[in-house]
Amino acid sequence: MAKMPVVASSPQGRFNDGAQLINGAVLDTSEAYGKHLFCWWSTGSILHVHLGLIGKFRPAPLEDAPGDTIRLRLEGADAAWHLTGPQTCNIITPEERNEVVSTLGPDPLRRGANRKQDFVQKISATKRPIGAALLDQSIIAGIGNVYRAELLFLTGIHPETPANTVDPDLLGQLWDLTVSQLKRGLKWNRIVTVSDQDVDKRVTYKIDREDALYAYHRGEMPCRRCHTLIVDTEVAGRSIWYCPSCQPR
Ligand SMILES: [Zn+2]
Repeated sequence: MAKMPVVASSPQGRFNDGAQLINGAVLDTSEAYGKHLFCWWSTGSILHVHLGLIGKFRPAPLEDAPGDTIRLRLEGADAAWHLTGPQTCNIITPEERNEVVSTLGPDPLRRGANRKQDFVQKISATKRPIGAALLDQSIIAGIGNVYRAELLFLTGIHPETPANTVDPDLLGQLWDLTVSQLKRGLKWNRIVTVSDQDVDKRVTYKIDREDALYAYHRGEMPCRRCHTLIVDTEVAGRSIWYCPSCQPR
């Protein structure tokens, strides 16, 4: 968004007060931390958004009539942005922003020393299944259900393995893979985890949807590496898919 005042509103009405605080303000900077987005406005207000499972923040043509599901509409000169279904949408102070960030584990997409050691230390300290630990935002920030399945497949770890029993070297590899996979996802604006040799073609951002992943939502389909059928189970209340041969207990 260009550095110009926005028109902020809450067509749904649930964020009228917050929208008023940023209406007419200029966006100074925005930062993503894990799944949290912080937008700093010229008025000193910080907009805090967490999309959760169903939230979307997407551009819309200016002429689109805002529907009543839109929590926040930000209108610039050329386009509008519509926020729908967020888990969190509020205006906070810098202190509150710091508080949110302090509860989060290392973010694979941010710079900073010792993030890998920090991750390995935090995840090794829990006896919970590694599939649950990976969704814990205080251990690692920004991993969702698709990536947890894919990263465990790529490291050959069964999702129900107690995190504290996984070799720290393997956990280090898991971190490195997470960094490279999330960077690819960011660059391509979609989740594609497969390598050329496992799909017999050059992998690009245009790869077909059914070829893009190893495990996630591939129940009953043959593993791309060993042809064993992918199975699913539930870890931390959410479905996860894995290959019983590539990811033995
Ligand atoms: Zn397999």
